[in-house]
Amino acid sequence: MTKVTLKRKIAPRIANGHPWIFANEVNIVDGPVNAGDIVDVYYADEKFCGRGYINPKSQILVRLLTRKKEEINEQFFYNRILEAWQYRQKLGYTENCRLIFGEADQMPALIIDKFNDYFVLQSLAYGIEVWKPAIVKALNQIFSPKGIYERNDVPVRELEGLTQEKGFLSEPFDTRIIINENGLKFHVDIENGQKTGYFLDQQDNRRAIQHIVKDADVLGAFTYTGTFEIHAAHYGAKSVLGLDISENAVAQANKNAELNGLQNIVKFEAMNAFDVLKVWVKEGRKYDVVMLDPPAFTKSRENIQKAITGYKEINLRGMRLIKNGGFLVTSSCTNLVQPELFLEIIEMAAKDARKKLRQVVFQTQSSDHPIVWGMENTNYLKFLIVEVTDR
Ligand code: SAH
Repeated sequence: MTKVTLKRKIAPRIANGHPWIFANEVNIVDGPVNAGDIVDVYYADEKFCGRGYINPKSQILVRLLTRKKEEINEQFFYNRILEAWQYRQKLGYTENCRLIFGEADQMPALIIDKFNDYFVLQSLAYGIEVWKPAIVKALNQIFSPKGIYERNDVPVRELEGLTQEKGFLSEPFDTRIIINENGLKFHVDIENGQKTGYFLDQQDNRRAIQHIVKDADVLGAFTYTGTFEIHAAHYGAKSVLGLDISENAVAQANKNAELNGLQNIVKFEAMNAFDVLKVWVKEGRKYDVVMLDPPAFTKSRENIQKAITGYKEINLRGMRLIKNGGFLVTSSCTNLVQPELFLEIIEMAAKDARKKLRQVVFQTQSSDHPIVWGMENTNYLKFLIVEVTDR
């Protein structure tokens, strides 16, 4: 097996458990390698570091699959997937969950979402793409699924020299399915929905709004298929209006409201939330609860200031639309905006809006997306509920 030796002076990240090895951290690759080959990685002092897959085309040269000298073969992937499922079962998951959360499950660049009997897969690096048949075989053996679909229509694959693609990894099936969550039903469009079709990471957070929405007039923005808003209606809101810029998402959200018999309480409209919230602030509109869940504002450090400004602006507008003593429910999935920074941004927005805040809930993604200390990109979702009062 080809041996990769690290430089003497490298950040402690790798020794602390992070599986990525950047090209500039490597001293010697002792032989020719092709994208996807399995290699052994050693520290400069010849101590074994781990085993993983290499891609000379990628800035992340090696991603480690294991810290042991174990064989990487079909059985390895079967075991990893089974362990990941047993872990989720221990945490109480039965139907829907993120089954594989990449690095956090020691399967770098692999995402698998389980929607009851259906599975949606993303393989985002060359070295995991190679093992796709083994992964699909393991899913078949462990779950006997009704269908498996790949949503590899993701630009990041091109950095790895892979093409974007989507399609069936099983016999074709109807990709418009219905899932259950917290006693509600939701349409999921596996083929054409955003990401894998549904945001499982907010499943606990959707429950967290239960008490504050009772008898409330609720405004939701960045609603996608309306999950938070439909939860609000289910938990006893008086009226709910949801906004999303995507006509498709809005159509799906209205269908979801009907599916749950809540169409008289919750309505969705296609609008740009940034623009319309500004106008409604000027008009003096007020809600008991405002919920915001914008998409990630940046993936690169260079644009971090833009992301900060974006979060501040949208939360400022949200706060101004809240009645005295009402609640703001706000999320951020930008992993470069770490939790402390997010709270600082919200505090700045409150200052500018002349509001006083009290924290009700501050938490992260659901536990099927495990956080591993030392891998800061696994700790990406911030979910905050605050009470908002006039100063
Ligand atoms: N809350 C949702 C996920 C939201 S994802 C859930 O739990 O399922 C973010 C959404 O923001 C996407 O649906 C996207 O279409 C929408 N979006 C992006 N920019 C927007 C804008 N300027 N105004 C309104 N919606 C926007």
